[in-house]
Amino acid sequence: MRVKDFPYEFTKAIPIVRRLQQAGFTAYFVGGSVRDFLLGKKIIDVDIATSAYPAEMKEIFSKTVDVGIEHGTVIVLYGGSSYEVTTFRTESTYQDYRRPDSVTFVHTLEEDLKRRDFTINTLAMDANGDIIDLFAGEADLQGKIIRAVGDPHECFHEDALRMMRSFRFTSQLGFMIEDATYQAIKENISLLEKISVERIQVEFIKLMLGQFRNEGLRFFLESQAVLHVPFLKQRNSQILEKLLLLPDDKLRTASQVWALLGYFLKFSKDEFHQFLREWKQAKAVFYKAYLMLELLKKREHAEWTNEWLFQAGLDVALLTEELVQLIWQCGDIEKVKKKFAELPITSRSEIVVSGNDLQKELDRTPGEWLGATITKVEQTILKKELENKYHAIIEFVKSEGKHDESR
Ligand code: ATP
Ligand code: MG
Repeated sequence: MRVKDFPYEFTKAIPIVRRLQQAGFTAYFVGGSVRDFLLGKKIIDVDIATSAYPAEMKEIFSKTVDVGIEHGTVIVLYGGSSYEVTTFRTESTYQDYRRPDSVTFVHTLEEDLKRRDFTINTLAMDANGDIIDLFAGEADLQGKIIRAVGDPHECFHEDALRMMRSFRFTSQLGFMIEDATYQAIKENISLLEKISVERIQVEFIKLMLGQFRNEGLRFFLESQAVLHVPFLKQRNSQILEKLLLLPDDKLRTASQVWALLGYFLKFSKDEFHQFLREWKQAKAVFYKAYLMLELLKKREHAEWTNEWLFQAGLDVALLTEELVQLIWQCGDIEKVKKKFAELPITSRSEIVVSGNDLQKELDRTPGEWLGATITKVEQTILKKELENKYHAIIEFVKSEGKHDESR
């Protein structure tokens, strides 16, 4: 099959393929970009596979970055974008059911495609738009099928992460897993324990953020994968089945995923902390998820208060409200935006009186009183019981001081 109308993402990268060809090498577009293009989906990364070795690529292209050069990958910077260009390779020496320690460079595209996980991921395209389909990937794209390349048992023994990848593709694409492939997954699911949490986590998040989340989750639960991933294995997976009752509305961020799970699994603060730690979450996600779960628990019983909105910030407030919509089919994004816009202050720095001002006006040296006073001022402004004006605040603080003295 030859495709005619290349999307911009490919046209932009064609000169890279051509340059490799002019230098006597073969080169093709491969992987997710070809799959997503044929599905009419948004193309994220355009990856290229070539017969050139990394050192040869670096001679051809002036701007390159060495990442994973030992795996044959060179990042080529071209036209304001970056492309992963990888030498044809196989991954033959698999140990412990994980990614291989070393890779072997090979000469042909076919050998390279053979080591890939699923038939839909083996499609390649040349610079003329000719599709190379050596493993019936197009038929599986049409039939919406995730099928292991070659023997499925071998496929998952070589790299057990592929089982998680199959679930996330069902969630992203709405595809089904072919019978023999799924059978092999169910038989080998415990091999997931050999895989690092970092790699599992990437696929799990992609699963949870997919358009067909419930499909992916159903496979994840039914295959018992849930029993072989961090922390969740100790939990009753029936609780997680309740997630399947939620509508398939898309989630937007990893922090929403964790907060949603935290809510359903009824984690205490400490448990949630431990859970996020075991899943090796980056600090920023960790913090957001933590805050979001707290707010979600409050929001379950009441409307947003100014204090909660202030604490959340607009971004977290909206992410939380989206979870409210997902879980309880209520929630009102516009209302939250409006209420947030009406906050008298959205951060402490907006208070017109500074710590220095307070010390001067009250003629006091810094101490614990200062932080407590600023918090009191902030909370009172948020309740709209105090105006954010210099004299009003000073008056308020002085009168509070008198109260304290008379107590
Ligand atoms: P995404 O859209 O999420 O990037 P993708 O299919 O491009 O999806 P990548 O992880 O970027 O996934 O991998 C690029 C390609 O490399 C895949 O399409 C597949 O051909 C191959 N691949 C990736 N991971 C594996 C794996 N664990 N085993 C075998 N092949 C893999
Ligand atoms: Mg990709």
